[in-house]
Amino acid sequence: MSKTSQDVLRQIKDEGIELIDLKFTDLHGKWQHLTVASDLIEESSFTEGLAFDGSSIRGWKAINESDMAMVPDPSTSWIDPFYHHKTLSLICSIQEPRSGEPYARCPRALAQKALDYLGSTSVADAAFFGPEPEFFIFDDVRYNSGEGSSFYSVDTIEAPWNSGRVEEGGNLGYKIQLKEGYFPVSPNDTAQDMRSEMLLLMGELGIPIEKHHHEVAGAGQHELGMKFAPLINAADNVMIYKYIVRNVAKKYGKTATFMPKPVFNDNGTGMHVHQSLWKGGQPLFYGEGTYANLSQTAKWYIGGILKHAPSFLAFTNPTTNSYKRLVPGFEAPVNLVYSQGNRSAAVRIPLTGPSPKAKRLEFRSGDALANPYIAFSAMMMAGIDGIKNQIDPGDGVDVDLFELPSEELSKIDTVPSSLNDALEALKNDSQYLTEGGVFTEDFINNWIELKYEEVQQLRQRPHPHEFTVYYDA
Ligand code: GLN
Ligand code: MG
Ligand code: MG
Ligand code: MG
Repeated sequence: MSKTSQDVLRQIKDEGIELIDLKFTDLHGKWQHLTVASDLIEESSFTEGLAFDGSSIRGWKAINESDMAMVPDPSTSWIDPFYHHKTLSLICSIQEPRSGEPYARCPRALAQKALDYLGSTSVADAAFFGPEPEFFIFDDVRYNSGEGSSFYSVDTIEAPWNSGRVEEGGNLGYKIQLKEGYFPVSPNDTAQDMRSEMLLLMGELGIPIEKHHHEVAGAGQHELGMKFAPLINAADNVMIYKYIVRNVAKKYGKTATFMPKPVFNDNGTGMHVHQSLWKGGQPLFYGEGTYANLSQTAKWYIGGILKHAPSFLAFTNPTTNSYKRLVPGFEAPVNLVYSQGNRSAAVRIPLTGPSPKAKRLEFRSGDALANPYIAFSAMMMAGIDGIKNQIDPGDGVDVDLFELPSEELSKIDTVPSSLNDALEALKNDSQYLTEGGVFTEDFINNWIELKYEEVQQLRQRPHPHEFTVYYDA
């Protein structure tokens, strides 16, 4: 049973907890927090929230209308393992302090609207998501150099693979080579204890854990596995996952990054997302004797995903760096097709046993810098649109798309090749998101503006590679 506000208030009293840490997710998918004395939390805090100044949060309110309220969700409480003083942590959504309406730019509130909309369509009443964020662990340059430098560049990491200068042969001293990280034992794998600590900690905080392993990238890439959960819980779990990964890495004198493509020529970092819809406690995606045992509902959902992917990639792949991962040859699918088992398709239907409950699809193009609340909601809205409009995804494609001759490949739609292109696609295709008032026009326009600024910032900067090819050209 999930905890109620009464349970939380009782726990505060029984355990003599003096501090409460209120955490909320900003637009960019980063946790922000405010710690309050526990006597500030009372029953009404769970409905009216606690006031704070929202004007300094990127992409939220202007200074002249900056009041906001964070409303803690009592079902999300845990004792923060990284604080020295015993502190109860609560995950919050944001609402308008005067009207009590959900704040239209709050990602977690948006996810709730998406679920309310799902219920109102009578298509389904529950959505399950199984995210798989990957990450790299690097030495903490600032920590190790002792120079107090706040600027961090991959060029400063002492690793030959960063420039693609891979040593040929010779003794690498157990160093894992490019794309060969999946998944030899130690001493090649040097992060076993760190990952175990991360996974066990996740379990202690209530996330149903499954596994951990080294990932394909040789430069130190990893993945922890957790079980699928209802949409908002799954997004909360991603936030806790990242928090644990970063803080445990820090404890070991390392840093973790969820950047999609930190290392040239090595695999990038994805966040595959498994998804399925349910109604009345029954799974909707299983069909008997069809291709990959997919129900008609599942096929239409896939139709919506494939149709709207170019537009929702602005949310699932929300950085300029995201598109450096989306190139052929590194297990990051660029082709907008679906397939049974084939990992080179954007949508994979995992091989599952006879249980209808396990039937799901996996969208593989997204990455771990996606804000999980926004990304899961956008994908679900695309899927609902597919079901409502009976969008046919065509046949499954089972050949290895990475191996197809170019004239065959050219017939297949691909993902946008830059953040700018994804933002253009979003501009031209956003109606499926605004159904039921889930994404507001304001939300989408604000997003495009914020992200376009990131595009501009990169465009203005000379790139190290340009020096290699142009300096003495
Ligand atoms: N890292 C790969 C990606 O970019 C996925 C590797 C895997 O999980 N098989 O999506
Ligand atoms: Mg995985
Ligand atoms: Mg993986
Ligand atoms: Mg996967």
